[in-house]
Amino acid sequence: MTATSPENKTLYAYVDGKYVPKDEASISIYDHGFLYGDGIFEAIRAYDGNVFKLREHIDRLYESAKSIKIDIPFSREEFSRLVIDVLRKNGLTNSYIRIVISRGRGRMGVDPRNCTKPTIVIMVEPREPLFGGNVKGISAIVASMRRTPSWSLDPRIKTLNYLNNIMAKIEAIEAGVEEAIMLNEEGCVAETSTENIFIVKSGTVITPHPSQGLLRGITRDAVINVAKELGYTVEERPMTVHELYNADEVFVTGTAAELVPIVKISGRKIGEEKPGPIFSRILGRFKESIKKSTEGTAVN
Ligand code: PMP
Repeated sequence: MTATSPENKTLYAYVDGKYVPKDEASISIYDHGFLYGDGIFEAIRAYDGNVFKLREHIDRLYESAKSIKIDIPFSREEFSRLVIDVLRKNGLTNSYIRIVISRGRGRMGVDPRNCTKPTIVIMVEPREPLFGGNVKGISAIVASMRRTPSWSLDPRIKTLNYLNNIMAKIEAIEAGVEEAIMLNEEGCVAETSTENIFIVKSGTVITPHPSQGLLRGITRDAVINVAKELGYTVEERPMTVHELYNADEVFVTGTAAELVPIVKISGRKIGEEKPGPIFSRILGRFKESIKKSTEGTAVN
């Protein structure tokens, strides 16, 4: 099937300075992103012609790049403009955006000096929220696969190495549930395979601190702000599995999934097994904040 926009136009990907019909776009089998997972990525959404939290995503991209020592040959402003250009080129105002930057094409062998310049790909396409935007709630398990510790491959780096998360996702699939909750090396709750996690207990909103072995999600940070605006106390701190099981509400946040409640975890009902009132208020305010979020990143 050819990738198309809603009007059935061919979609173009940006690949190293060129616009290529998405289904024909390719990279070398010697690309170290393919050979070794040597690279980084970002996932962003545009709503009604506004790229949501573009600056924050670009900042995280550049921080990931710095950590793994890839030099992106653009300034942050130039890169932001490039993202908008890709959307314009494809005539998309509501879109999922994927940026992938790898070490580049080289020879066999992990030595990064084999690669002379990074490969840069930007893909855009309409994409329904993961879990179908299910605000009724999903089921999850606590996975046995732990998140990589921060002293190893820090989960704050959004690297192309997602096997850690994929192994947890496989456990969820095998268990017949939608998502896997991952613990950190101490056995505290970190995040899910591709979302951050929040609980609500006695009116307080609690989420693991970024030092707990997780990707610091842009949606997570936006949700923390929304919760504070609504007057809730937000605690960022270690969270035990016992607290998770006994929470009044649990929900996850991410660019792909947006905001989704978890109503059952490893066979235990969470709250009344339906979206909680605080989740619903946060979701409502989050949607309003998307509408307001022009931030000078408009596509039109
Ligand atoms: N954790 C992981 C492991 C992820 O892959 C993602 C998705 N990027 C998130 C959390 C959520 O981050 P964000 O809100 O920035 O999409």
